[in-house]
This record gives sequence, C-alpha cells and structure tokens, in this order.
Amino acid sequence: MQGTPWQTALAGAFTHPQALFEFLQLDPALLPAALQAATTFPLRVPLGYAALMRKGDPADPLLRQVLPLAQELQDQAGFDTNPVGDLQAEALPGLLQKYRGRALLIATGACAINCRYCFRRHYPYQQGSATPRQQRQILEHLRRDESLSEVILSGGDPLLLDDRRLAGWLDDLAAIPHLRRLRLHSRLPVVLPERISESLAHLLTASRLQTVMVIHANHPREISAAVADGLQQLSEQGIRLLNQSVLLRGVNDSAETLAELSEQLFDAGVMPYYLHLLDRVDGAAHFELPAAKSQQIYQALLAALPGYLVPKLVREEVGAPSKTPVI
Ligand SMILES: *Cc1c(COP(=O)(O)O)cnc(C)c1O
Ligand code: SF4
Repeated sequence: MQGTPWQTALAGAFTHPQALFEFLQLDPALLPAALQAATTFPLRVPLGYAALMRKGDPADPLLRQVLPLAQELQDQAGFDTNPVGDLQAEALPGLLQKYRGRALLIATGACAINCRYCFRRHYPYQQGSATPRQQRQILEHLRRDESLSEVILSGGDPLLLDDRRLAGWLDDLAAIPHLRRLRLHSRLPVVLPERISESLAHLLTASRLQTVMVIHANHPREISAAVADGLQQLSEQGIRLLNQSVLLRGVNDSAETLAELSEQLFDAGVMPYYLHLLDRVDGAAHFELPAAKSQQIYQALLAALPGYLVPKLVREEVGAPSKTPVI
C-alpha cells in the first residue's frame, strides 16, 4: 500500500491517544477518559494536522475536534446512532438517495481523521471500499435513473481511494449520459494536503463531467500554508471549491472565528457553502450550542461579511427534500 507521499503521511497518523498526548504535551490526567472513549470510536489524526495544534492546550479548537472525552460515553436524550436517516435513504448498499437529482455514493468507509462530532460515527460502513459487484449494481442503478444529474462521491472520504480507483469511478460515471456533474465531499485537502497533486487535479478536470469539490474546514487555523497551496492548485485547474463547516461548541462558536474562516477560504479560492447545525448523534452532545446562541452567532456573521462569504445555516431533517435552512 505504501509508495506515494500521501499514503506514507496517512500511515503515520496518530491512532493511539498516548502518542498524541505525548506529542502535544497534554495533561496525563485526561488520558484514561481518552482511552476509554476511543474504544467506541477510534482516535485518528494525521501528524500534519496535529502539528497545527497548540501544545499543552486541551481546549485548542483543532484538538477539540478529535480528542476523545469522557462526555462521549454519557447517554443524552434526543441523541441517537442514526440521526440523519441514512439507513432509510439507502437505495442500494453504498448509495444514498435523499434529494432530487443527486445520489450520494459511499466510495469508501474510511477517513483520514476521526471527527468526534461526525454524524457517521455509528454508521455501519463495511470497512474499505465497494466490492466490484456492488460497484456494478450502483452503476446500473445510476444508469437507469434518468432524473439524476449529479453524483456525489462521499464516504468516508473518497480521496482515500488512490488515483487509479478514482479514475475508474470517473470513467464509469462519465459514461452515463444524463449525468452532468461530479461532486466530491472530502476533508483530505484540509487534514492531509499531501493528497493534492497535479496528477489528482488533472484526473478530476479531464472528465467530461463538471467537477465540484466540497471540502470541510471548521476553523481558520486549519488553513495552513500547505492547505492553501493545495487548494490553489485545484482551483487554478478549474475545479470549483466549496466549503462546509459544522457549528461546534468550543471549536468555532463565534462570529469572529467563522468570519476569519470565510476570509481565509476565499483567499485560497474556496466559497463558503453550508454551516451545519450539529447532527444529534450519540456521543456528540457536548458540541451542541443552544438554538438561541447559534442564531446570535449567525446574525453577527451576516453583519460581519459580504453576503457571498456567509455560508447557509442549515440543519438536516429526516425525510426533508433538502437540507433545511435555519432562519
Ligand atoms: C447532504 C446530502 C446531499 C447533498 O445536498 P446538497 O444540498 O446538494 O449539498 C446529497 N445526498 C445526501 C444523501 C446528503 O445527505
Ligand atoms: S466523514 Fe468527515 S466529519 Fe466524519 S469523520 Fe470522516 S472526515 Fe470527519
């Protein structure tokens, strides 16, 4: 599996809480809880991402996103393991269809980073990628459904597929005449910028399909020089870049932080897209903000930025025909 620089970087990610604690010089008193919470959802943090965190600060907004905490183990009313209805939306194994015209393909269940607030932390992904048989069934389904104009490669993280597998999907999808756009949902440009290369950009722009990439950054300090370089490389090749964030207590719960994030993203060629309210997934209750506080932050964000730099505040409701705008 080794070989490319990004695969080496991925293999070097922190997966053991103790190693991360030592690297960041964190108070060992927090370690037993981290070890325990990591048994329900493993720790995973690429080294380059951990290097952006402040040493010795358990409240660092980047660390908060990945640090297993004792609070995760407490049951909270209203939080469950399938909060956004993904199981009901499965058209086939590996394919979700909730909204008109778009189908979301789980290209692989793996991620380069494990975000503690992730709504998929309990989703029963098979490890690894779709089997060749599942891949054939998915393509057959997409070919038959002429209402579709866009396929979203998601996961997990689709950029964990190597260029050869990605090219395979792209070729197969481009051969379906009614498809117009290919979208990738990936956090790799932010947490593993080593993944971005000229050959990846070329592969994505060579397709007949228009390519849109939706990245996932939550805090301005995530946009390091290496991340900005990678993003610029993609946008210069003509790939449209959008960002989605999740509004998270202790991470980005201020209009100032979110405004700075939008500014940094725009500098790197990325337009803000969505600001999601937290999905109420088991183990993530400590990230939730009171509704009134979310509104207040958003109002302040509207007042701080030009309209095109303000992401849409949305929430996901089971059975709704789109993400639901929060007014
Ligand atoms: C969020 C989501 C999409 C994308 O929705 P957009 O509003 O187009 O960004 C598509 N399919 C599924 C299943 C989703 O959860
Ligand atoms: S799917 Fe996205 S939010 Fe969830 S763990 Fe993977 S990278 Fe993080």
